Amino acid sequence: MTLFTDFGLAQPILKALSAEGYEKPTPIQAQTIPYAMEGRDVCGIAQTGTGKTAAFALPILHRLNANPKPRRPKSPRVLVLSPTRELSGQIADSFRVYGRNLRLTTEVVFGGVTISRQEKALAAGVDVLVATPGRLIDLVDRRALSLRDIEILVLDEADQMLDLGFIHALKRIVTLLPKDRQSLFFSATMPKTISSLAESFLRNPAHVAVTPVATTAERVEQSVIFVQTNRKQVLLETLLRDPSIDRVLVFTRTKHGADKVVRGLDKAGIAGAAIHGNKSQPQRERALAGFRDGSCRVLVATDIAARGIDVDGVSHVINYDLPNVPESYVHRIGRTARAGATGLAISFCNDEEKAFLKDIEKLTRLKVPVQPLPEGLPAAPAASETSERREPQRGRPAPHARGHQGHGQSRSTDPNAERGPKRRRGRGGKPGGNAQPQGGQPAGNQQRPAQGQQRPAQGQRPAQGKPASNRSEGRRGDGAQVAWLEKSPRRR
Ligand code: AMP
Repeated sequence: MTLFTDFGLAQPILKALSAEGYEKPTPIQAQTIPYAMEGRDVCGIAQTGTGKTAAFALPILHRLNANPKPRRPKSPRVLVLSPTRELSGQIADSFRVYGRNLRLTTEVVFGGVTISRQEKALAAGVDVLVATPGRLIDLVDRRALSLRDIEILVLDEADQMLDLGFIHALKRIVTLLPKDRQSLFFSATMPKTISSLAESFLRNPAHVAVTPVATTAERVEQSVIFVQTNRKQVLLETLLRDPSIDRVLVFTRTKHGADKVVRGLDKAGIAGAAIHGNKSQPQRERALAGFRDGSCRVLVATDIAARGIDVDGVSHVINYDLPNVPESYVHRIGRTARAGATGLAISFCNDEEKAFLKDIEKLTRLKVPVQPLPEGLPAAPAASETSERREPQRGRPAPHARGHQGHGQSRSTDPNAERGPKRRRGRGGKPGGNAQPQGGQPAGNQQRPAQGQQRPAQGQRPAQGKPASNRSEGRRGDGAQVAWLEKSPRRR
């Protein structure tokens, strides 16, 4: 296992990292930092949320600190180019945080604000400049900035730079930089246009990449249903009454949660099996065999157990609980849509999980279409009434989903609402998809059904079919897309 101490980073940087609660490097950090420390150029495929900012910021701070130079007016030593003001601000914040025990300064410049304050800051001299390309060129043209002392260049989110039309600005900037420099280039994707841009910036680069898990998400038809925790079970049972769901993998966050779901299905007359770390090998094999041969169409699994499952023809993935690690979502939904097939993924999302959903959408750069709760969905029965109220209804069709009653039904102000797990991000969190899910299954805080709502109406189909066709919302190149890419401010 790689540790931050393995890289030879200066002590003050290590101190800042432990103050931030970082325990070990993320995969992109483990791959990038050694090359960047040697002074090599790096071409990296990595998405936001993988820890890539520290992957370049840490070696840069180390190298500047190891070779101190007096600050020169208007002539920074490091230039970080980033596509949006939000991202630029966050990158600058990161430099300041990781470099808080060093005598180095960081400034950020972007458009849309008065230029004179930025000119003044540059005149005083800064070590690291983070900039959006347009404002950078303005400052150069006004002779408020010179790029001739740049020792290290970072080009972050190159694909987004191109989408936002910065190609000409970038081409001009490269001509203003010294040839003898180190360059670190990052992009979430690497199509031909980006790799040729990379070539014009880089010299004999080391190539690094973290699994581009997000791409899988594009092949799966996804939807999300907003639902209170205590109605998830009844929602699942309602959806499962649709015979078109012929092989479904249901994900829960915990082993206990998986067992509880299976017990509930059993009471509702739906055959299901759970697979997780507490099951013996024969139990797991039996469950898998039944799932494969179709005698059991519902397999309820935790993330860890699901890794070993290799079953073709999974028609649906249902996220009973949303994972708090966004990469797990992509791995989960990739269980359907295997071998080029398409699949459907439906996620249940309570109030507490909305933050996880946001992280998932940020990672996949797709907005998950919202599907309403099926109309007439029975209220969650009180625990003591479960068996009488939800007796087996084999083969009975489920209620039809027409109205939009899903959003906002679940309110955190509801005294019966359950507290879900805390999300793990930022300080001490572990980005990059190598974190294990955690958090407990919420306790079964049940509500009594509203009068007349105990049974689903008959002869109607559930709402789980195709989600609304707005899959491309939030995609790159879309007008709304910049907002999706913006990172929320780090919590420090
Ligand atoms: P980034 O991909 O650079 O936007 O980083 C995503 C988040 O991960 C940020 O909130 C960072 O503060 C955090 N982070 C970066 N590296 C680590 C690490 N090694 N351990 C824990 N958190 C980290």
